[in-house]
Amino acid sequence: MIKFHPKPELLEQFVSGTLSPAESLMVSAHCDMCQYCQGQVEAQTEEFAAQQLELEAVSDSYDPQFDLMLANITQQPVAETVYSNGRRSRTSEQPGSSIELDGRKFELPKTLHRLVQKRGNWSSLVGKLWQAPVELGYDGVANFIYMGQGGSVPEHTHRGSEMTLVINGEFSDGMNDYDTGDFIYLNGEHTHAPHSSSHEGCLVFSIVDQPLHFTSGIARLLNPFSHLFFR
Ligand SMILES: [Zn+2]
Repeated sequence: MIKFHPKPELLEQFVSGTLSPAESLMVSAHCDMCQYCQGQVEAQTEEFAAQQLELEAVSDSYDPQFDLMLANITQQPVAETVYSNGRRSRTSEQPGSSIELDGRKFELPKTLHRLVQKRGNWSSLVGKLWQAPVELGYDGVANFIYMGQGGSVPEHTHRGSEMTLVINGEFSDGMNDYDTGDFIYLNGEHTHAPHSSSHEGCLVFSIVDQPLHFTSGIARLLNPFSHLFFR
């Protein structure tokens, strides 16, 4: 069950189109998986459009910017696929709707389908970790990260921010337990050590804006190389 959602401010900014492309992508992908946030976004979008129409009615002159903005709003990715219990309730057979690792196939939320073609190869890291980089084409370092059962990422903090969406499975980070669909937005104030003890392991999609900073034990020795992680 989804417990972690984008903050209300983030949803508002998503609706008004003021998020960074990376944030917008993550919020949209979460909404694909979360009926609750999908409803919030739909309601807020209607409200926002109505407000803008009122503004337009008040102004005498035609404003091409307004049409442009409306066009942007209506082009916001529309969340169509609702997940329940981590499974798609509507299946789609289009190529590029899933990724594979080790013979397992993971269905992706609709918003991430466009990234399937931009995914690099899986590479194996320490601690039963696999990562596949994704070329976003804008700011942010994106990766699919798979933690096998017992897999872990050394304890670290962030100089910038780290957004994570749980695509499939469960993991814990010493602060919380996360499940399929959960949206996690951390910054430099948080130190955590993600690990997955679930039998199925855990696939997440993550975007960071700075390399990780490892904080404990021998992992600190990794810092000079942290650009190699999740780059
Ligand atoms: Zn949500």
